[in-house]
Amino acid sequence: MRAIDVHVHPMNAAYAEASGPFMEAAQRMFKGRFAARPDETIVADFRRDDCLAIAIAWDAEHGAGGSVFTNEQLAGLTRDYPDVFLPGWGMVDPWRGRKGLEEIEHAIRGLGLMGMKYQPPVQAFAPADRQFYPIWDLMQSLGAPVLIHCGTTAIGAGEPGGLGFKLDYARPIPNLDNVAADFPRLNIIAAHPGWPWTDELIAVAIHKKNVSIDISGWSPKYFPPTLKHDMQRRLQDKVLFGSDYPGWSPGQCCDEWEMEGFKPGIIEKLFSENAIRILNLSSAVEKATAARAKVV
Ligand SMILES: [Zn+2]
Repeated sequence: MRAIDVHVHPMNAAYAEASGPFMEAAQRMFKGRFAARPDETIVADFRRDDCLAIAIAWDAEHGAGGSVFTNEQLAGLTRDYPDVFLPGWGMVDPWRGRKGLEEIEHAIRGLGLMGMKYQPPVQAFAPADRQFYPIWDLMQSLGAPVLIHCGTTAIGAGEPGGLGFKLDYARPIPNLDNVAADFPRLNIIAAHPGWPWTDELIAVAIHKKNVSIDISGWSPKYFPPTLKHDMQRRLQDKVLFGSDYPGWSPGQCCDEWEMEGFKPGIIEKLFSENAIRILNLSSAVEKATAARAKVV
């Protein structure tokens, strides 16, 4: 297995429908790469690129409208294609209150999902706002990681008012930093390099043991140089590989990162070792690898 892709949007018909309100804008931004496709096509992409996928559900009803790509549907991908999909990132709209907390617990304990993903600008909430602290408290007590979108977002980019999505919710300080400080056993992964606050994100990841970074959504060519520098040095044990499929293909991302000429050992940490350790994936990866051997 070449890499574990920790950031995958399973863009089948149901997922595309759930993203309805901003799909048209996303299609313009990504020149058609967000078109819906059958599960078999997604699976074939990951088999071809020799990668494992950690896919993400979708639920941003209050902030963005649209429907839900449910945690059940996400769990179904792992059940149907155990050689490609590791247990994924569920999603529960943070505005669902007490019922949402029950959904989170069901997703982790009942459905066996790995963790939960949040998209603060699109879900219209500030992670450091204390009314959302019960979510972090629950995730910490479940011992499950959270993936929190950080920095600008492609969703709404180039549209009037950015479709109303506010980037401030995705600023690392105070959002990630306060949550990490107040929940020191909560395992937080910041999604993306956090631009235009990459230096803030680097500072948080260095200062808070419980914060790591996924590098998805940016090709190495355009990647913020400060993070590219630190991911080979101070942050070499805290950066995880992700593509942001279908915006980028995992194999092409791997090719481009390998061409960066990092010193020996860094690519192995980036592609899989860090994810296995930080997300506690060794038995899941073993199972998936055994399943893959039967497919190929
Ligand atoms: Zn994404």
